[in-house]
Amino acid sequence: MYSSMEQQQAEKVKCLIIGSGPAGYTAAIYAARANLKPVLYTGVEVGGQLMQTTEVENFPGYPDGILGPEMMTDLQKQAERMGTDIRFGYVTSVDFSGKLHKVVVDETTQIYAEAVIIATGASAKWLGLPSEQRLNGSGVSACAVCDGFFYRGMDVAVVGAGDTACEEALYLSNLCPKVHMLVRRDEMRASKIMQERVKAKSNILVHWNTETEEILGENTVTGVRVLNSRTNQTTEIPIQGFFVAIGHKPNTDIFKGWLDMDAEGYLLTKSGSSHTNVEGVFASGDAQDKIYRQAVTAAGSGCMAALDAERYLSHKEFMESHNWTAVSH
Ligand code: NDP
Repeated sequence: MYSSMEQQQAEKVKCLIIGSGPAGYTAAIYAARANLKPVLYTGVEVGGQLMQTTEVENFPGYPDGILGPEMMTDLQKQAERMGTDIRFGYVTSVDFSGKLHKVVVDETTQIYAEAVIIATGASAKWLGLPSEQRLNGSGVSACAVCDGFFYRGMDVAVVGAGDTACEEALYLSNLCPKVHMLVRRDEMRASKIMQERVKAKSNILVHWNTETEEILGENTVTGVRVLNSRTNQTTEIPIQGFFVAIGHKPNTDIFKGWLDMDAEGYLLTKSGSSHTNVEGVFASGDAQDKIYRQAVTAAGSGCMAALDAERYLSHKEFMESHNWTAVSH
C-alpha cells in the first residue's frame, strides 16, 4: 500500500491510458470527448503492432487500404486533436491497492489515477532457442517489414503458419530469391486468402511438418537445421535471415498479482464489458483479447473501456458528492 504523503506529492489524473495501439488511441478519443482529460502513455513501441504492418485492407472506412503506420499516425492525431495528453513513457509498475490507482512510469514518475484503461497490447513470441537469442538482430528478427530490407537478394526462412507468417513470407518474397516457410503441422492456421497468396508465389517454399531445431551461424545466420516430424529426418537449409512469426504474448506482466488473468496472461474482464476485478481499472485490446485480435476489435474494445470509465467516474463523483462511499456497478 502506498503512503498518503507519496500520493499528495504526485501528479493526479482522472483517466490514465496505458498503450498507444488502436485500443489506446480509441479509448483516448472517447475519453477526451467525454471530458475525462485523459493522459496516455505510449509505451516503447509507439503505435503498437500496426507500426510493423504494411497494408491494412480490412479496417472499415479505407476502401483502398491504408498503411499500418499511417493509420496509427492518424489515430494519434485524432486523439491529440480531441485533447488527449500523449506522453512518451513506459509503465514499469502499478499499485492498485488504494482508492486512487498508482502507476509508475519509467521506474521514477508516479502518477495517481481515478480510472486506468489498459491497452498494452501484445508482443511477438520467440521459439526459445539459445541460437535465436544469440543471433537476434544479427540475422534473426520478428519483423520482416522492419528488417526485410537488409536481406534483399538473400535466401531467408519464416517460421509459423498463421496470417502473420504468411504476411511476412509474402513481404519477403518480393525482396528475396527464396523464402522457406517452416510449418510445424501438415496444415496452416492462416486464413484461406493468405494461404492462396502464399501458394501463388513461386519463390515461397513451404516445408510441412517441419520443426526448427537450431539456427546456424556464429555471428550471422548461415542456415537453419530442421526436423521433419513425419520422416524424422534432419536437414540443413542455407539461409541468411530467419524470421519468427509464431504469434504473440499479451503485455500484462506488470499487472500480475493485481488483476485476474488467464494462464497465458490475457486479462480477464467481466462479460460484455471492460471491467477488470479492480474497480476503476479497465482492460481493452490485445491485452485482454486472445480470440479476435484485430485492429478493429481492439479499437472497439478501447471505445468500450472509455465508456465504462466515464460511467464509473460519473457514478463515483455522484456518490462522493452525496457523501456516500460505496461504489457499485
Ligand atoms: P497465430 O496464433 O494465428 O498463429 C501462430 C502460428 O505460429 C501458428 O500457425 C502456430 O502453429 C505457429 N507456432 C506457434 N508456436 C510455434 C513454434 N514453437 N514452432 C513453430 N510454429 C509455431 O498468430 P498470428 O500472429 O499469425 O496471428 C494473430 C492474429 O492476428 C490472428 O487472428 C490473425 O488472423 C490476425 N492477423 C491478421 C492479419 C490480416 O488480416 N492481414 C495479419 C496478421 C495477423 P499451429 O498452427 O501448429 O499452432
